[in-house]
Amino acid sequence: MSTVSTVNGGISFWYADRGTPLAREPLPGDATADICIVGGGYTGLWTAYYLKKAVPFLNITVLEAKFCGYGASGRNGGWLYNGIAGRDRYAKLHGHEAAVRLQRAMNETVDEVVRVAAEENIDADIHQGGVLEVAYTPAQLARLKDFHSVEIAFGETDRVLRGARETCERVNVTGAVGSTWTPHGARLHPVKLVQGLAATVEALGVTIHESTPVTEIKPKHARTPYGTVRAPYILRCTEGFTANLKGQRRTWLPMNSSMIATEPLPESVWDTIGWDGRETLGDMAHAYMYAQRTADDRIALGGRGVPYRFGSGAAHFNDTARTQPATIEALRDILVRFFPATAGARIDHAWSGVLGVPRDWCATVTLDRSTGLGWAGGYVGSGVATTNLAARTLRDLIQQDSGQSGPTELTALPWVGHKVRRWEPEPFRWLGVHGMYAAYRAADRRELTSPRAGTDPVAKAADRLAGRH
Ligand SMILES: Cc1cc2nc3c(=O)[nH]c(=O)nc-3n(C[C@H](O)[C@H](O)[C@H](O)COP(=O)(O)OP(=O)(O)OC[C@H]3O[C@@H](n4cnc5c(N)ncnc54)[C@H](O)[C@@H]3O)c2cc1C
Repeated sequence: MSTVSTVNGGISFWYADRGTPLAREPLPGDATADICIVGGGYTGLWTAYYLKKAVPFLNITVLEAKFCGYGASGRNGGWLYNGIAGRDRYAKLHGHEAAVRLQRAMNETVDEVVRVAAEENIDADIHQGGVLEVAYTPAQLARLKDFHSVEIAFGETDRVLRGARETCERVNVTGAVGSTWTPHGARLHPVKLVQGLAATVEALGVTIHESTPVTEIKPKHARTPYGTVRAPYILRCTEGFTANLKGQRRTWLPMNSSMIATEPLPESVWDTIGWDGRETLGDMAHAYMYAQRTADDRIALGGRGVPYRFGSGAAHFNDTARTQPATIEALRDILVRFFPATAGARIDHAWSGVLGVPRDWCATVTLDRSTGLGWAGGYVGSGVATTNLAARTLRDLIQQDSGQSGPTELTALPWVGHKVRRWEPEPFRWLGVHGMYAAYRAADRRELTSPRAGTDPVAKAADRLAGRH
């Protein structure tokens, strides 16, 4: 197998057959709006969608630095699933029942995205095959069983634990010794979703200006090189790029994630792999992988490459998503280890993107009622569904603030208004994140050959240091 013909960058594979879009017109000058949304990814576009649906006469403007779907929403692994970063911490802070409500809301969110996509005729190659997570070492199997029990305790009673044989009958992962499957997940084509959403909100009457970077957000003002938008509500939906904004450098750390996509694989290969259910596929490694079988029968597979660039550098817009050759090789190794039948397959594409990581690894959605500033993010790689829940919550918070409704089930969820401390200044930020991933990779290597069922102590220590547990 060779990577000589691999396209490296070009935003992501998901644009390969469609081309990167021509940007919509930039902001023509100073303007006013009822609501100004900064960032045209899933968070911004879902928020525009639900607000406009709720109050059709609202004047909503979306300002996007590049084009809608330039960020993680146009680069992700297409796992639409019910995981939300921080649920276990929210259970500690607000009690088990509050976290169960959050989990239930996430389960429903997967169905909500599928429902709206169908209603709005957004064909995003959605296949609701659930999420399958596999273990292939004794330590992973022990973690998988713990994880399975915890998820059931948070109300996922429809989750299924599978043994080695049953797992391989679904997806033939070499050496798999068990898996856990939840129905609350679907595979999708990220760019078809984000572009469909942008077209839908535009048709509803939302104004989108692209090639319009916001340089500063202040109460009631979003400043750009083309003019300022004044609005009572300004919503920051910039996730992994947030560090670029004035005053936000240490808010959410821009973490890198990298992916590869194979050529379409022939029937003979699929005969050995199976994967007829097209579940999204992950593992229980510390530096975990995630994968999907695409609509055109490729495997798109991701994991952490270079996790973070010094000074939050990965967040800059000149990053055209080139991926280091060593990362491509590492992802290819995982692919072939999982599925030896792919050993001769061409890797057509490699790319990277940034996601936002808060200091306590907890996603949040907030509306500051005293300033009209709102934000949502810190999804830590679980944003494809969570952005939709965040958007509906922002809608409810704004409606509550403007006196159109009272509190709702969504505004009472424990991630609303959560405050988190900022990241350490450099070089501690860089050292901490690199140290954590080096520790995870070392722990994964040791667990591969260890007969012990316990998690490697180095990974536990890294979790504690990183503030994850
Ligand atoms: C490689 C990769 C794989 C992933 N896989 C999955 C997955 O399979 N499942 C899952 O649940 N999650 C996954 N994620 C995470 C998920 O994609 C994100 O959480 C989600 O897309 C975040 O959406 P968003 O709209 O908040 O941010 P983004 O999609 O990053 O959108 C932010 C937008 O804001 C714009 N912007 C930024 N700054 C400014 C500014 N100053 N002015 C104007 N515009 C600005 C950007 O150009 C961008 O378009 C993955 C992420 C990556 C990078």
